[in-house]
Amino acid sequence: MDRQWLEEQLRELPLVQYEFFPTDTLVFSPKVRHICRQECAQYNRSWACPPAVGEVEDCENRCRSYPNALLLVSMAEVEDAADLSKTLPTRLAHETLTHQVLDLVRRDGTAAIGLSTESCAICETCAWPEGPCRHPEKMLPCVESQGILVTELAERFGIDFLAAPNLVTWFSLVLYRN
Ligand code: SF4
Repeated sequence: MDRQWLEEQLRELPLVQYEFFPTDTLVFSPKVRHICRQECAQYNRSWACPPAVGEVEDCENRCRSYPNALLLVSMAEVEDAADLSKTLPTRLAHETLTHQVLDLVRRDGTAAIGLSTESCAICETCAWPEGPCRHPEKMLPCVESQGILVTELAERFGIDFLAAPNLVTWFSLVLYRN
């Protein structure tokens, strides 16, 4: 993968930040899975979330099989960032951005996976657990679903999730192997 070419393409996209780093510096923790189970309404409701994505150890092994990581950050302006009815619709633009970057990375045959925001919202009702995912090529598992400690990433790269009362911050990861 030609990184210089990729960076030229990234600079054309509405990203506020992107960072390349080695996947083996990602921190995985079963504690994240505990939060999914206790605090997320999407737990056990989507192919993009636990338990459908597998055990944290399996997720970690799968992620680490792609040695290179690219963090993508975008922001959207909303009336009130604390109002979920206003912020959630803006994640679709970030999902589209993540798919665009995935396509760019894969363009020369580079193997890559994407991890993105929240749970999958492509179908009105997820097929989990009755049937297989209807759009596996479009579905991006949630970053946290893998057990990745997002707070560590945010601290390391200075991502401000509370930048302003009218700004919502979205982030995703593309993991790839040349
Ligand atoms: S594409 Fe549909 S079936 Fe697949 S994870 Fe998303 S909502 Fe569920």
